[in-house]
Amino acid sequence: MVDADQTFVIVGGGLAGAKAAETLRAEGFTGRVILICDERDHPYERPPLSKGYLLGKEERDSVFVHEPAWYARHDIELHLGQTVAAIDRAARTVRFGEDGTVVRYDKLLLATGAEPRRLDVPGTDLAGVHHLRRLTHAERLRGVLSALGRDNGHLVIAGAGWIGLEVAAAAREYGAEVTVVEPEPTPLHGVLGPELGELFTELHREHGVRFHFGARLTEIIGQDGAVLAARTDDGEEHPAHSVLAAIGAAPRTALAEAAGLEMADRAHGGGIAVDERLRTSDPDIHAAGDVASFPHPLFGTRLRVEHWANALNGGPAAARAMLGRDVVYDRVPYFFSDQYDLGMEYSGWAPPGAYDEVVIRGDAGRREFIAFWVRQGRVLAGMNVNVWDVTDTVQRLIRTRAQVDTEALADPHVPLGSLVP
Ligand SMILES: Cc1cc2nc3c(=O)[nH]c(=O)nc-3n(C[C@H](O)[C@H](O)[C@H](O)COP(=O)(O)OP(=O)(O)OC[C@H]3O[C@@H](n4cnc5c(N)ncnc54)[C@H](O)[C@@H]3O)c2cc1C
Repeated sequence: MVDADQTFVIVGGGLAGAKAAETLRAEGFTGRVILICDERDHPYERPPLSKGYLLGKEERDSVFVHEPAWYARHDIELHLGQTVAAIDRAARTVRFGEDGTVVRYDKLLLATGAEPRRLDVPGTDLAGVHHLRRLTHAERLRGVLSALGRDNGHLVIAGAGWIGLEVAAAAREYGAEVTVVEPEPTPLHGVLGPELGELFTELHREHGVRFHFGARLTEIIGQDGAVLAARTDDGEEHPAHSVLAAIGAAPRTALAEAAGLEMADRAHGGGIAVDERLRTSDPDIHAAGDVASFPHPLFGTRLRVEHWANALNGGPAAARAMLGRDVVYDRVPYFFSDQYDLGMEYSGWAPPGAYDEVVIRGDAGRREFIAFWVRQGRVLAGMNVNVWDVTDTVQRLIRTRAQVDTEALADPHVPLGSLVP
C-alpha cells in the first residue's frame, strides 16, 4: 500500500533506475516511486545487445530487468516514452517534455545513462551508418548483419572498444566481411594498455577481422543514400556496405547541467559529480550508473564507470542513500565481455600510465590466464580470460592494496587466495 507522503522520482529506466526502484521497495519505502524513461520498452539490460541477442541466440524476453507486471505489483508508477525535459530544483519538480506534466519529488535520482558518440564526418547520416545502444538499434543491426553475411557484404566498424569488438565477432559469425578502424595501435588501448590489447588483435585476426590501426574515419562515401566505402585519414578507402560507429559513449548530462548541478571534470570522464553517497551538489538529488562520476577511495580519483555492474550496484546504493541509510559506494569496478569462444572478466582500474608492470598467470597462448596490472608491487586490476570463479579473490587483492610477490602472482601453483593478506 502506497502512502503518498513522500515521492521519489527516478529519471532513466535502464538497469540503474530499475534496480533503484526495486531497492526502494525492498528496503520498505512506502511512498510513491515514479520511474520515467524516454524509451518505450520496459527497463532492459544492454550487454546482450552486442552478444546473444544480436546473434539471435537469446530471446527478447530475456533482456528485461523485470517482467512488465512486476512494476504494478510493486506500485512503481512507470512512465515509458516520456522524456524529462527540465528539473526545477527550487520547486522540487520535474517536467515531461512531451505533454508538460509536472511531477513533484522529495528525492530525485538521475540515472540517465549515456548515448553513443556520433562520427563527425561527411556521410554519417547515410542510412547504412549505425550505432548500438538501444534494443531497437540491436534489432536493426541484427537484420543488417544477417544481410551482409548472406551477400558477402562489408561492415566497417569505427572504434576497437568493447562494443566494436563484440559486434565484429557477431558480424563474423553472420559471415560478414569486417574491417575495424582504430586510431590507437591496439584494441581497447585506453582500458587494457598495449600488452593485453594485442591478445584481442590476434583473436579477431584469427577469425578473419581486418584491423586498420593508427587511422581515423574521415568520410563515409555513399551513392543514392547507400554506403559504398569508408575513407580514413591516411587516404585509404575501405569497401563498406554498412558502417558501425562504436567510438564510445557520452554521459547524458544535459538535464543535470541545465539544472545547475555540479559536473565532473572532462579529464575524469565528465558526468554528474556525486560524493561517495552518490549525492549530487543538491542534497535531494542523487545520480547513479553510467552518468555518475564518483570519488573512488581505492584509486584516489573520480571514476565514471560505463559498465553493467556499476548500474546493478550503483542504482541500489543510491536508493539506500535516498532513504538516508549510511552508504559509501566503493565497489571495485567490474565488467565482462564475450567474443567468439573467449570469455573474460575485468576488475579494477589501471589505464596506461597508472601501472608499471603486467603479470601473467597461466597460459596466454591458449588464452587461459589471469593478467594483473601492478604498480609498485600492488595489484590495481586483474583480468581473467577463460578462467572462472576467481573474481572475488582478484577483487580482494585489489582492495587490500597489499604488496605482493610478483613471482608468486605469476605462478599458477601458488594458490591465488594465499596472496591475499
Ligand atoms: C551494446 C552494449 C553492450 C554492453 N555490454 C556490456 C558488457 O558486456 N559488460 C558490461 O559490464 N557492460 C556492458 N555495457 C554497458 C552497460 O550496459 C551500461 O553500463 C548500463 O546499461 C548502464 O546503465 P544505466 O542505467 O546507467 O544507463 P542506461 O542503460 O543508458 O539507461 C538510461 C536510460 O535513461 C533514459 N533517459 C536518459 N535521459 C532521459 C530523460 N531526460 N528522460 C527520460 N529518460 C531518459 C535513456 O534513454 C535510457 O533508457 C554494454 C552497453 C551497450 C550499449
